[in-house]
Amino acid sequence: MAVVDTGKPGAAPGHGHGHARMGNPTAPARTKPPADHVTVLRGLLPFVWPEGRPDLRARMVWAFGLLVLVKIITVTMPILYKAATDWLIAHVPAAGTAGGQAMTAGVMLIIAYGLARVMMALFTQVRDVQFMHVALNAVRNLNNRTFEHLHRLSLRFHIEKRTGGLNRVIQRGTQAVELIIRMGALSAVPTALELVLLSLLLWYFFGGLIVAIVITMVVAYIWFSIVASEWRIGIRREMNDSDTDANTKAVDSLLNFETVKYFGNEGLEAKRFDTSMRRYEKASLHSYWSLGALNSGQAVIFTIGLTLVMILAARGVVAGTHTIGDFVMINAMLIQLYIPLNFMGMIYREIKQGLVDLETMFTLLGEHPEIEDKPGAGALAVKGGTIRFDNVSFAYDAVRPILKNVSFEVPAGKMVAIVGPSGAGKSTISRILFRFYDIAGGQVTIDGQNSAEVTQKSLRAAIGMVPQDTVLFNDTILYNIRYGRADATDEEVFAAAKLAQIDDFIRTLPEGYKSMVGERGLKLSGGEKQRVAIARTILKSPPILMLDEATSALDSHTEKEIQDALDRVAKGRTTLVIAHRLSTIVHADTILVLEKGVLVEQGTHAELIAKNGLYASLWDRQRQAERAREELARTLEEAEKAGALRPADKKL
Ligand code: ATP
Repeated sequence: MAVVDTGKPGAAPGHGHGHARMGNPTAPARTKPPADHVTVLRGLLPFVWPEGRPDLRARMVWAFGLLVLVKIITVTMPILYKAATDWLIAHVPAAGTAGGQAMTAGVMLIIAYGLARVMMALFTQVRDVQFMHVALNAVRNLNNRTFEHLHRLSLRFHIEKRTGGLNRVIQRGTQAVELIIRMGALSAVPTALELVLLSLLLWYFFGGLIVAIVITMVVAYIWFSIVASEWRIGIRREMNDSDTDANTKAVDSLLNFETVKYFGNEGLEAKRFDTSMRRYEKASLHSYWSLGALNSGQAVIFTIGLTLVMILAARGVVAGTHTIGDFVMINAMLIQLYIPLNFMGMIYREIKQGLVDLETMFTLLGEHPEIEDKPGAGALAVKGGTIRFDNVSFAYDAVRPILKNVSFEVPAGKMVAIVGPSGAGKSTISRILFRFYDIAGGQVTIDGQNSAEVTQKSLRAAIGMVPQDTVLFNDTILYNIRYGRADATDEEVFAAAKLAQIDDFIRTLPEGYKSMVGERGLKLSGGEKQRVAIARTILKSPPILMLDEATSALDSHTEKEIQDALDRVAKGRTTLVIAHRLSTIVHADTILVLEKGVLVEQGTHAELIAKNGLYASLWDRQRQAERAREELARTLEEAEKAGALRPADKKL
């Protein structure tokens, strides 16, 4: 009988244990996990004995009752079998006599045997369903808990994680919960119980020697199964690691679909993927070989035990101390025991690997969010929405400072723009305002309240963000706009879309507001996505607004529409704009010029031009570029009027 082994990593989780280093909980483990499985099992307890769910606890008790009943029936069956055999032998007609004696007692024994089998099968099913209620509830709870936890973790964690790998950790972890409950409750405990009952019966019928042989055989069998399984765990881990690796590569490659196309690197990607799949193939084959060795060893040990016991029973029959029925019974009992015993190796391995997977997931669950609310932190109370940065210093990595002693104020209801070369730290300022990271020095206050002292939820509720690069949910436009305020009515959504100058466009689509936007919103252009983002911020209606202007140049018409939409949203709100095109912020109340993380200039447009510093030179450069563009457009227009343009030139 072969141990069931699907060979699929999903079905038999065994991923390397969780080296949940900060930011990378999915790194494949190369070292052995610490053997603290008791802690992991203890972590599982609240899920299988759930508080506040007396119904599930009752099911657990009921299921254990059934479990004991099933095992009592199981060991009774060979006894009925023995009785039927002995009855038959007693009723075999002696040579030369006529048969045809009454069969009532014999038939009754056979029917009892049949009934016992039916009851065993029936109660087993009822028991399994009861356990599954508990197991599946545990899976759901753990899944929900992990999902919520992942949303609580900080931006840094999410930037550094590998989506594909993380997915597998969660998948395997939740599978492991079901597996441990199923394997433990439906196999390991019943088998142990069966062994105890069986030993008692064997003692009663045959005495100590046979019990000693059976127990020795079972111990040797389990010992071998554990040793061989331990050896196989490493092999399985290699298989799972290579599977995770292939998965991560595939997800990453598909996420970068466009980049792959730009560089025509499909071949390279396929090769990289194949290298991982080849490793998986090799590891899987190794795993199948080792499984064969395990199964063969188990069969040899069991058969030696069975043969010895049968020889002893046969000797008893010949000596007249035992009946043929006893001989048949002992064989039936051992064969019956072999079925669950045969799964012992697998159960041991699966439970052990399940614990490893669960540990990885618990480590992920134990990962502390980098940014946490201070104990007793209150909600931010916004009056006007004055933002102040006082001497703020910040670094993503301690070795590389990004912001150096930055101080500025955005008075309530005013608009302040941040400009500066790429990489100067402009977007970083917005991330700090949202408190995605904690700062190394100084403080950020809103209406005099330190942003690190209030709850993150209230802080973020007060700020609306229109990001540079809007990513949308793969759902309808309606859903994406309503995301700004989940309880907004359809009319409010339409009104927001009108203000954001996107309503007309949406209505030209065949499915209007019900149009799907595609993965990450890829079916919409950059300008359209940004207007969806503006519309949802209008719905959110926050007192403070953070606008990260799109870097990519939009055509002048779209740009004007977006600018108008933004101006409308910004009216009456404290607004911080990260600007790439200076022409859009000449009217800002104050312009901050950031260079390499240092605030080098600040003032109004006119003041900064008069100062003739960095801002003035950035302005000159942009004006020149714009003028050149305008001139080119004018020349092309004139040429077209004169009919002097070849078709190819029009593309310029
Ligand atoms: P751009 O105009 O190109 O958008 P920016 O002024 O907004 O640039 P930031 O995004 O604030 O620049 O980045 C400032 C610096 O911080 C950059 O040098 C960038 O490489 C670095 N940086 C940004 N995010 C991270 C991160 N998560 N970890 C480490 N360094 C980062």
